Amino acid sequence: MRIAVLCLQGAFIEHIRMLEKTGAEAFEIRQRRDLLSRSYDGLVIPGGESTVIGKLLGDLGMTEDVRSMIKGGMPVFGTCAGLILLAKKIENDSRAGLGTMDIAVRRNAYGRQLGSFSCTAEMKGVGTIPMTFIRAPYIERVFGKAESLAVVDGHIVAARQDNQLVTAFHPELTDDTRVHEYFLGMISGSKR
Ligand code: GLN
Repeated sequence: MRIAVLCLQGAFIEHIRMLEKTGAEAFEIRQRRDLLSRSYDGLVIPGGESTVIGKLLGDLGMTEDVRSMIKGGMPVFGTCAGLILLAKKIENDSRAGLGTMDIAVRRNAYGRQLGSFSCTAEMKGVGTIPMTFIRAPYIERVFGKAESLAVVDGHIVAARQDNQLVTAFHPELTDDTRVHEYFLGMISGSKR
């Protein structure tokens, strides 16, 4: 399986390493031409700074392409900033990202001091996994077709809607490959 990783800013190298660890092949997307090659089965939008990634997507003329690919069924996995970009509603920011997923999120939701922490919690369909949060958002609510997959301290931190998977935490910063494997499973499931 060949998975594209959006390599504009943020923790993309860690995703590439993680995907390779699961046996998948990683494909770097740095410009529109890479995106339009369509030579991949799924797309990862990494953590980083959602405003920067969002701006670069726009500057490189890729926002509408990514949005229509996702709407057309391309499997996508967004972590942290990637989650923010996929959300239809950002409660504390007027900037719009890709806006393809039925979730309302809050950026930097844990405040500056408590923004980074680790814990272990259950993720539906995955199991009990380590979760690393870095200046993380959380999902205030899911609506429409989105389903919550994990809750930490009363806040939703992972969700899925058909071909879209998001986590507020960074599985690529742990040794545990199960969330990436879940994503690969979503892709093979959709091909059947
Ligand atoms: N705080 C970042 C944002 O709002 C997200 C942090 C992350 O991706 N680790 O975009």
